[in-house]
This record gives sequence, structure tokens and C-alpha cells, in this order.
Amino acid sequence: MNTQDNYPSAIKLSEQTITFLAQYEVAPTPINFSVIYHYLSKDNQALNHYIDEYISYHGALDAVFIESAFLKYFSHSDKLERSLLTPFELTLTETMKKLATQVSNGNEIATNLEKADKVLSASTAASTLEPLIKFINRTLTSSQLQHQELNKELADTYQQVKQLKSQLKASRDEAMLDALTGLYNRRGCEEKLQSLSEDEIHSSFVIDIDHFKKINDAFGHSVGDKVIQKVASTIKSHITDTDFAVRHGGEEFIVVLANKTKPEAQKVAEKIRIAITQLRLKQKKSNTYLPNISISVGISEYRNSNNWKTVFDQADSALYQAKNAGRNCCIAM
Ligand code: GH3
Ligand code: MG
Ligand code: MG
Repeated sequence: MNTQDNYPSAIKLSEQTITFLAQYEVAPTPINFSVIYHYLSKDNQALNHYIDEYISYHGALDAVFIESAFLKYFSHSDKLERSLLTPFELTLTETMKKLATQVSNGNEIATNLEKADKVLSASTAASTLEPLIKFINRTLTSSQLQHQELNKELADTYQQVKQLKSQLKASRDEAMLDALTGLYNRRGCEEKLQSLSEDEIHSSFVIDIDHFKKINDAFGHSVGDKVIQKVASTIKSHITDTDFAVRHGGEEFIVVLANKTKPEAQKVAEKIRIAITQLRLKQKKSNTYLPNISISVGISEYRNSNNWKTVFDQADSALYQAKNAGRNCCIAM
């Protein structure tokens, strides 16, 4: 059963989790909460076995042990958000709503009591009730303060969960990007390809910088890196938000154009090729211009749901032809 798909049962399970943790005097931190939430949902036999054994031996639970269970069963980052943060956030939101209702109910009762107090002060016959009213009022005020404090703590935790979620998202995004150029890496490429419709026509081209070894040899590796960055940003500036560019290897790039045909891709590739030949790069240290850069491009098309490996292989063959044809050109296959 996937309880996260079912809101009421997720809430119920969340409440049981809080009660369970309280029973063992363990604080409901995101980690403790998540582990016990899954323990109670019985969706992971190995986890349940691990915890049951510990409880039957020690007759207790503690945060250190729960953390060990967390590391053993939940440390995978993709799972983390689904298994931990989402149910925790859900519970927090619900609890905060309930508390807010209680605080506002409390306010109403306090106002009514104050009114009663005023009425009673005016009436001498009811003077014996006055201390009682005052007592109830004091108790209510202090309980309200506690509620407000709790509400504030929950709100802080809620913010922490939100922050954690966005950090997770950022680190997931980062894992899809190439550090040198900010383009997608191979992993990012895989993910982006999955988001494309299989029924549409798409196009792709492979780019390789011409005679790149010479640049490295003449100016050093770090200048070579700068050239790679410059080529990457030139590619990026010529494609739209629905397209994406990948640094596939050292000085090789793949560009995927969503919902564009081969002739359209050819136009884009040609624009990029020309823009690269027009770059005038200078080494700061020696104040000398680098020789003009050029690229070779192989273009191919995705249609009739053929697989992407075939498309890239075809683009690679086209690239090979472009190199053989003297470089600095685009060839479509
Ligand atoms: P061609 O026109 O046939 O492509 O010639 P080329 O010299 O560019 O040959 P090739 O593409 O085979 O060589 C790529 C070179 O790029 C080899 C390697 O030393 C260099 N290289 C690969 N990755 C990096 C990198 O991250 N930074 C730098 N500076 N150089 C790299
Ligand atoms: Mg190469
Ligand atoms: Mg090359």
C-alpha cells in the first residue's frame, strides 16, 4: 500500500507516528519521523525486522538507533524527499491548522469569560464566583501561550523542511549539470530525453571542436577549458528553452531540439557554427589572440519513436563525415 497517495490514511499514519515516538520519548525530528512513519506503514519488511529486533532486545528506542536505520534504509536522495519530507510537511501543516483553530477558540472563550467577569463584578450576589472565573481565565491564558509557542516552533520546523526540500532539489539539479560549462551532463541528458514525447519529431546534433589538441598544446589546459566554456555559452545562446545542450565528453557536445525537424536543426547548427568562427578569444596573461576556433557538426532526426542511441550514432557518423570533409561544417544524415 502506498499511503502517500491517500491523504486521510497518510494523516492517520502521521498521527500514529507522533504517538509512537512520544511513547518512546523520541523527538519527532524529520529523520525520526520518517523512519517510524515507514515502520508503521509496514512498507519495508527489512526495516521493520531491523527495528523489531532492536525493540525486543532493548525494550526501548533511541534517536541514535533510528538514525542508523535511516542511513541503512533511506539515505538515497531521490527517496528522501518522497519518503521523508513530504509526509512530514503534510503532518506539520495539519497540526498547525489544528493549533490555529485551538488558539482562536481559546481567544473566543477568553473574551466571553472577561465579559462574564465584568457582569459578575457588577453583581454583589455572585461575588463568590469571581475567584473561580479569574482562575479559569488565568489557566486559559497560560494554555494559550503554550499553544502559541508550540505553533511558532512548528512554523520554524516547517520552514526548515521547506529549506531542506529546496536544498535537495538544488543538489539533484546540480547532479545533472556539468561543472565546467553548466550544460547538462550525460545523466542530465538521460533525464531530459525522458521528458520528450515519443510521438513527436525531434532533432539532434553532435558538435566536436576542431583541432582542439592544438589549443591545449599551445596555450595550456586552462585556456583550453575557457574555450570549452565559450563554445558552450555560444551553443546555449542559440537554442530555446525547450531545447537542451549537453557536454557529452571533453570537447564534444550534444544538442537536442524538441519538436524540430532536421532542416530546422540544420539552420540552428549552422548559426552556431558561424558564431563560433566569429569568436575572437584572447589570452589575458600574454595578451595574444588565440587562433580562430571552429566546430564540426553531425545532425540527425528522431522520428517514428526510434531510440535515441540510434539517433546519436547517426549524428556521430555525420560528424565523422564532417571531419573528413575538411571540418568547420555541418552535415545532416
Ligand atoms: P579533431 O578536429 O579531429 O576533433 O581534433 P582534436 O584535436 O579536437 O581531436 P579530439 O577531438 O580527438 O581531441 C580532443 C582533445 O581534447 C583531447 C584532450 O586532450 C582534450 N580534452 C578533453 N577534455 C578536455 C577538457 O576538459 N579540458 C581541456 N582543456 N582539454 C580537454
Ligand atoms: Mg573530440
Ligand atoms: Mg575535437
